[in-house]
Amino acid sequence: MFLHLNPAQKEIQEKVRALVAEEITPHALEIDSRDEFPQTSYEAFIRAGLLKLSLPLEYGGRDTDTTSLCLVIEEISKASPASALLIFPTQAVIRIIRGVGTSEQQKRFFSDMAQGDRLCGFCLTEPNHGSDAGSLQTRAVLDGDCYRVNGTKTFITLGPHAHYYLVFVRTGPGKRTAGVSALIVPRETSGLSFGKKEKKMGLGGSVTSEMIFNQAKVDQENLLLQEGEGWSILSHHANIMRVWGVASMSLGIAEGAYEAALAFAKKRTQFKRLIASFQAISFMLADMKMEIEAARSMIFRTAAMIDNREGTFRDQETLVSMCKCYASDLAMRTTIDAVQIYGGAGYLKGSPVERMMRDAKAIQIFDGSNQIQRMIVAKNILLD
Ligand SMILES: Cc1cc2nc3c(=O)[nH]c(=O)nc-3n(C[C@H](O)[C@H](O)[C@H](O)COP(=O)(O)OP(=O)(O)OC[C@H]3O[C@@H](n4cnc5c(N)ncnc54)[C@H](O)[C@@H]3O)c2cc1C
Repeated sequence: MFLHLNPAQKEIQEKVRALVAEEITPHALEIDSRDEFPQTSYEAFIRAGLLKLSLPLEYGGRDTDTTSLCLVIEEISKASPASALLIFPTQAVIRIIRGVGTSEQQKRFFSDMAQGDRLCGFCLTEPNHGSDAGSLQTRAVLDGDCYRVNGTKTFITLGPHAHYYLVFVRTGPGKRTAGVSALIVPRETSGLSFGKKEKKMGLGGSVTSEMIFNQAKVDQENLLLQEGEGWSILSHHANIMRVWGVASMSLGIAEGAYEAALAFAKKRTQFKRLIASFQAISFMLADMKMEIEAARSMIFRTAAMIDNREGTFRDQETLVSMCKCYASDLAMRTTIDAVQIYGGAGYLKGSPVERMMRDAKAIQIFDGSNQIQRMIVAKNILLD
């Protein structure tokens, strides 16, 4: 459907659409069923420069805006959300370092990331602190010019495959969110190891593992901002990633499922008629399309607002949570209905829609569950 895109945004949309058709879609089912790091997607993204989209131009990046990132993640997720998860945390960490890193930190990390094959992980969740991330317990204690880090992070997307990790830790005496700080941790850090790869219901190919810090030694110069400012980094700089990240992934999944269901309904006959001609089926398709367009409008309006620096912090926070929650609930409903339209064929392994249904479920949970997003929306609207 029609979107107001500038020439640079249109160019990137077309480029990624072509790349997905040639290099991602043909491997999408295999990526899920093998459930191994998606090497073919990784190599395709390196060739296309997609891992350094958010880097400044002087480091060979594209200085990509929020709207373009939405387009990229949406296109890739139509075919393979697990592949989109190579780009999502990586761009999130780059954007955060751009937002809060000193010029020395930016020079140090971006010179290396300019190679174009670097991946980043985003590490907040712990075994006993998921939604209540403000109570996290991984502790970093200053010891000379480095921090000694101890604790465990869990559910970390990309697991041992990333080169750098943005890790939220507790420093100093500050209680709850006041004691949270953010460290950039290179993979080769001594005392850092990874637990087993988790077996998940969906998102096969997206590696998820535990990260264990045992007296891990991290240079003090890798602290972002000051001690105790980690929570403000999360709310003011990390939060918007939900629009171009998980919300756009959800939009892509919903569109992928809708397109598959539409094509199926226009081919499958029962009672000597195409099933698309039954009102029960065509109304399901009509509902899918309406809701997809509603989600698309909300996501791209919010992305444009962020790009144009419009609205207050609270306006943006409310819309970001609405996008995440609405789009991921929509992806769940759409994929369930797509399986229904496929009938028995939709319930078989190897059908694209059963994979999409399993993938969609994860997004209602991660990057702040939809209950937490509703709490944010409710808190903000009740302040009005
Ligand atoms: C595939 C996948 C990838 C992930 N990748 C990452 C990653 O890269 N980095 C990272 O840091 N984390 C990651 N996560 C973790 C994810 O962000 C957490 O799972 C999520 O925040 C929920 O935390 P939890 O699982 O501990 O659930 P809990 O917080 O224990 O919540 C359990 C249930 O209670 C609900 N609940 C909790 N508190 C409230 C409340 N106050 N009011 C109402 N309901 C509430 C939740 O919504 C949920 O339904 C990933 C998770 C998955 C599944």
